[in-house]
Amino acid sequence: MARIKLQDVHKHYGRGAAAFHALRGVSLEMPSGEFVALLGPSGSGKTTLLRAVAGLETIDGGRIELADELVAAPGRHVLPERRNVGVVFQGHALWPHMTVFENVLFPLRESGLNEARARPRVMEALAQVDLHQLAQRTPGELSGGQKQRVALARAMVAHPRVILFDEPLASLDVALRRDMMRHIDQLRRPDSSMMYVTHNQEEALALADRVVLLFDGRIEQIDTPVRLCREPQTERVARFVGSGNLLPARRVGAVRAGLAQVAVGDYAFEARDASIGSKEPLQLCLGPAAFALVGPEVPGLTVRVEHVFFQGNAYAVDAVLQGALAAPLSLVLPFEAQPRRGDTLRLQVRDAWVMPELIGGA
Ligand code: ADP
Ligand code: MG
Repeated sequence: MARIKLQDVHKHYGRGAAAFHALRGVSLEMPSGEFVALLGPSGSGKTTLLRAVAGLETIDGGRIELADELVAAPGRHVLPERRNVGVVFQGHALWPHMTVFENVLFPLRESGLNEARARPRVMEALAQVDLHQLAQRTPGELSGGQKQRVALARAMVAHPRVILFDEPLASLDVALRRDMMRHIDQLRRPDSSMMYVTHNQEEALALADRVVLLFDGRIEQIDTPVRLCREPQTERVARFVGSGNLLPARRVGAVRAGLAQVAVGDYAFEARDASIGSKEPLQLCLGPAAFALVGPEVPGLTVRVEHVFFQGNAYAVDAVLQGALAAPLSLVLPFEAQPRRGDTLRLQVRDAWVMPELIGGA
C-alpha cells in the first residue's frame, strides 16, 4: 500500500500572466516505511511540494493521497491538522514560553489525549532524542542542536503516518549535523514514511532509500542513492550529484557483460554501459574518486593540477585534462598523493559510466 501517492501535482503561485508554475506535474509513490529525500537546487520546488503534502499549500492540479485517503486535489483540501503528519522545519519553531515537555505534549493534547495518558509518550519521545533529562527547560535554555531534537520529538510523538522534514540541519554546524542525522535515522519506523527536503546531496544520499531529484518543478530522476550517483540519466543529474565529470569518448570495442571498451585520446579503458548503443561521441561520467594515480610510463589520462583543497584525509583537486580536449576534472586523491598546484599527473580510470543518449538532443 502506498503511504504517500502524488499524481501529476501542479502548483501555481499568483494568477494570470504573473503566475509562477512551481510544480509542473509531479508523480511519486512511496510505500509505508520508506525514506525519500527531495533533492534539488534552490527554487526547484522542494518546499512547495512538502508544504502541499503537509496541507500548508493547496494544489491546483493532480491529487495527493495519504494512506489511501484523498487529502488534496483541485476543490479538495484536508486541513494540515487532519492529515496525521509531523513536520520538522529548519527553524525549529518551538513555543518559547513552554517547556520542552509542554512543546512535545502539544500535538497529543491537540488530538484530545489527557496529560496522564500523554506523559509516558512524551517522555518516550524525548528519550529517543536523548532529551528526557531536559524536559523542564525552556527552548531559550537549549543549544541549537537540542532545540532541533525537541522539534524531532514533537514531530513524531503522535506517531504520524508521515513525517516531513524541510532542511532540518541547515542551521546546524558540521559536528551537530552528523548527530542529528543519527537521530533522524533512528526515528525510522516500518509504519511511517519520511519525506526529507534538502539541497545538500550528502544528507540526501546518506539518509534516503530513494532520492527524488527536482529541477524547475519537475522530477529529473528518482533512484536509490547509489544508482543516482553511479548511473545518472541526464547531464543535469551528473553535474548536480557527486560533481560528475563528463568527458567525450569513442568506442574501441564491443559491449560485453554491460562493459564497453572506450577510449579518450589514445587511452583505452572499460566503462559501464546500459545505453544500448549510444552513438558517438559517447559521453562518459566519471566520479571524483574513480581515478588511480599511476606512474608516467603507464597508459592513462594526463592532467594538470589547478587547485588543491585539503580535506583532512584526502585532497579535492581541480585538474585539467591535457591535450586538445582541455576538459576540467574534479578529483578526490588520497593523502599519499600529496598533489600540488602545477603538478602533471597520470591517472587510470577505475570506473566510468556511459551516459544514456539524450532523447531529442535537449
Ligand atoms: P525550494 O524549496 O526548492 O528552494 P520553493 O518550493 O521554496 O523551492 O520555491 C519554488 C519556486 O516557487 C521558487 O521560484 C519560489 O520563488 C517560488 N515561490 C515559493 N513560494 C512562493 C510564494 N508564496 N509566492 C510566489 N512564489 C513563490
Ligand atoms: Mg526550500
